[in-house]
Amino acid sequence: MFSNVYNSNSDENEIFIVSLNRNIPIQHLNLVNQLDVELDDCILSKYIDISNMIDMVFGKTYDPSFIECILNLLKSKQIAFPLFSQVDAKVLINNYSNNHHVLTLSSLHTIKPFTSVCLNCGKSLKLQFKEKVNVFLIDRVENGTIYIANCCQIDYFPNSFLKMSKRFVVPGSIQNKKYIHFGGKSVLTIEIVLRYAADLVNLYSGFENFAEGYNDTMLSLLLSRSNMQSNQVTNPPLLERRLFENIWMIYSSTLITIFLSKTQEIQIPLNMSDRHQMNTYFNETLPIWEHQFILFWSNHSVRNSCGDNCSGAIVIDGFQKPDRFVCQFTDVIHSNELGDIDWGCGFRPEMIQDKKNPGFWKNTNFCPKHVHLNNDQSTEDINNSNDYDNIDCNVSRNDRYASRKTSYGIILTIYNCGIIVNFDELYRSESPMRVIHHLLNTIEHLSPAAKVPK
Ligand SMILES: [Zn+2]
Ligand SMILES: [Zn+2]
Ligand SMILES: [Zn+2]
Repeated sequence: MFSNVYNSNSDENEIFIVSLNRNIPIQHLNLVNQLDVELDDCILSKYIDISNMIDMVFGKTYDPSFIECILNLLKSKQIAFPLFSQVDAKVLINNYSNNHHVLTLSSLHTIKPFTSVCLNCGKSLKLQFKEKVNVFLIDRVENGTIYIANCCQIDYFPNSFLKMSKRFVVPGSIQNKKYIHFGGKSVLTIEIVLRYAADLVNLYSGFENFAEGYNDTMLSLLLSRSNMQSNQVTNPPLLERRLFENIWMIYSSTLITIFLSKTQEIQIPLNMSDRHQMNTYFNETLPIWEHQFILFWSNHSVRNSCGDNCSGAIVIDGFQKPDRFVCQFTDVIHSNELGDIDWGCGFRPEMIQDKKNPGFWKNTNFCPKHVHLNNDQSTEDINNSNDYDNIDCNVSRNDRYASRKTSYGIILTIYNCGIIVNFDELYRSESPMRVIHHLLNTIEHLSPAAKVPK
């Protein structure tokens, strides 16, 4: 008896689907249903809008009253036929992957190597599961999984590859990527990377402020969502400031290299959390970036002239506000033309363990390389005998700078049309010699196509 009823229902349903499909293909109907769920019933033009959108996607025009009729038919109790699931698949997958009772590698973020074939031999890469990670999105943190691959003794990662114990980035591994990951348990989505760039320019946001603001927002959002799991609220994954800073700096610096030069393979630190590797990377690459920057922007009149007076003059000016704590070592560099020039050391001062208070740390005045000088070198202002006397330069600095622990700001060279040609950070000296060195360095690296301003 039961099977008869079941069969007759089944036939009815099949006939219904066939007749429905003749009037409107299931593919179109599926989208109509989704739009109907998303758009509120109080919108007067709702069915006209759905009809228009279906036309835009499929190029088929349905009468709005027909759309309304079909939707009413689907919703009506008589034809209780669950054609479409009302469950949000993304929410379901995310909750499923967060469920501690299920052992799964499924998540919304399966993060694979940037290439599907080996860069050396061209063969297809075989993916291996590496680890589970936290994926930081602009409004939430979700689970993700990282996959890696190996071929021709090269290890392939989502945004880099490892060859002979060195890590490299190529344009194809970071440009137009959805995820940014250089190791560790945290993956940034491109939205959050771009968000920080905009906050830095417009809100002058530092990494610490940004990370704390982000974490606060995530906690508030978690609490406001009704279907949260309690362990997510008590122990939410946090955006760690230093890790975020490292990922962002490496990502942005490689993009700069790609933008300013034709470099195809960029070596980056093997391990981002190794401070020595990071310092070496930035210290060694800085002069190269400076050269590329001057070459690129001094070419401005050739690439994109802004009129007759384009690149006619340069203006040099110093700014003391963008300063930071730097090592107090008064390093000197040698120049063939200018002799010895006070330079300074640009690394941040090191924190060391406080012997008087075990378990506590204290600040020093020197970087890891020069921290042994902490007790024996005075940190008084530089007074180089080769430099100008106060009589030559009418701006006196000595009084104000005698006990300064921070850097002396930056020096900028700008074309009259507003294009920055070069900039330098002044670590421990802003002497006239330092300014002349900046000028000569700028002229040395000017584009051959640029006319040297008179
Ligand atoms: Zn290979
Ligand atoms: Zn110009
Ligand atoms: Zn130092």
